[in-house]
Amino acid sequence: MATISQKPVLISGAGIGGTLLARALQSHNIPFQLYERDANRYARAQGYRIRMSDEGLSAIESVLNSEDFTTFKDGTSTTGSGGPYHFDAKTGDRIEHGSTGPPGPPPSKPDTNSAPHAPDAPAPTKPMLSGPTYGTARGWLRDNLLTTIADSIHWDKRASSYSLTESGVVLNFTDSTTSPEGSMLVIADGSQSALAAQLGQGEIRSYDTGARMIHGQTTSKAFRELGTGVFFVRDGSHEAGPLSLITNIRPGGELDDDSVEFGWVFVGGPGSFAPPNEDFSLIGEPAAELSRELTKDWSPKFKGIFEQQNDAQAAFLKMSTAWPRGLPEWKSEARVTVLGDAVHCMTPAGGVGANTALQDAAFLGMLLGERGGWGEDVVAKYEIEMRQYASEKVKASFEAAAKQFSITELGGKKLDP
Ligand SMILES: Cc1cc2nc3c(=O)[nH]c(=O)nc-3n(C[C@H](O)[C@H](O)[C@H](O)COP(=O)(O)OP(=O)(O)OC[C@H]3O[C@@H](n4cnc5c(N)ncnc54)[C@H](O)[C@@H]3O)c2cc1C
Repeated sequence: MATISQKPVLISGAGIGGTLLARALQSHNIPFQLYERDANRYARAQGYRIRMSDEGLSAIESVLNSEDFTTFKDGTSTTGSGGPYHFDAKTGDRIEHGSTGPPGPPPSKPDTNSAPHAPDAPAPTKPMLSGPTYGTARGWLRDNLLTTIADSIHWDKRASSYSLTESGVVLNFTDSTTSPEGSMLVIADGSQSALAAQLGQGEIRSYDTGARMIHGQTTSKAFRELGTGVFFVRDGSHEAGPLSLITNIRPGGELDDDSVEFGWVFVGGPGSFAPPNEDFSLIGEPAAELSRELTKDWSPKFKGIFEQQNDAQAAFLKMSTAWPRGLPEWKSEARVTVLGDAVHCMTPAGGVGANTALQDAAFLGMLLGERGGWGEDVVAKYEIEMRQYASEKVKASFEAAAKQFSITELGGKKLDP
């Protein structure tokens, strides 16, 4: 089918949301141009596994054709492996969470049909997402979505601002170049977005929870004693704040394969740890070393995860969130909108950020598809609905994180209980 002759939709950011939106536009033959700051698709480690829920999966299914969706599904694995199982970091004992009853059965036997809400990221006490969940490596998901749109991606293009024209919009890049005029701009460039700040005139922003994370990967050997499932290991003995390890060991035989590495996230409540000189760009050894230092008195059951990690994969992360009492209102601009973490960054608790970014992309893509491209009413329609469902997700994710990691302030502001 011929592409509709019109100005392209400009997309800033080829992350999870931006690439799914591009795929949606491609399926409707709407021209688009996708701009990404990374030099190429392998420039930056794509990190952890993503817990895919009903929302994220339905979004992908609604965009891809059935053959591509089958390929995508084949690359995921069920995360329904039991748990979350809570453990005391120092004693290694299993503890019951949110119940006075005895602990349930030990997490030794893989069970792919149970615990449909088992997350790859920190789990809320109550499941936040519906339907079966699947796990997929973040990099694999993005690569899979990129396959058919490679020709429309401009790598090494960091957007710094946009300019409205009489009948469109232009993107400005840090290398002093500009994009061709687009019919509209979709900002999909993550939680530190300068473009979102421009659109929201300061209203759209993320807040630092003070919690800090180290993400790492370790050979499957170190996890064998645990079995499969989602594990939440907590050390409440530090005065500065609780420390936790969250990991998900997938079913399906990988636990016995020495070449497989499982990802984990080590989380510290506000004030518990920080990267040297607060430098969050540090990756590798400094992050790996700090995780080992902070867990040196943990039970041998878990210590191996830090000791045998692949140091090169360790990275520091800040835990940020959009305002959890509701996304802000900003003056809607018919030619510019925003999706994903750029507008509703969430804590990793509950594993909902990527799923909501995918939901945004599929929904906006559908509205543009129905209209055959940009139209005066598309952005307003999208933003009204997105603001509502995303606000609910941000709130639930924040509340789960606040409870798990003792967060009481956001960006210096005390939060009401
Ligand atoms: C440890 C951890 C675990 C998580 N686990 C889960 C999970 O299990 N399930 C889940 O749903 N979510 C999870 N999340 C959240 C999820 O990763 C994000 O919500 C998701 O990646 C957001 O997608 P996005 O497309 O909005 O942004 P991103 O994926 O961040 O993509 C933004 C893209 O924009 C590019 N970019 C940035 N600035 C510019 C610029 N100026 N110009 C051009 N390009 C730019 C970036 O390079 C990037 O490619 C987790 C997060 C963390 C930290």
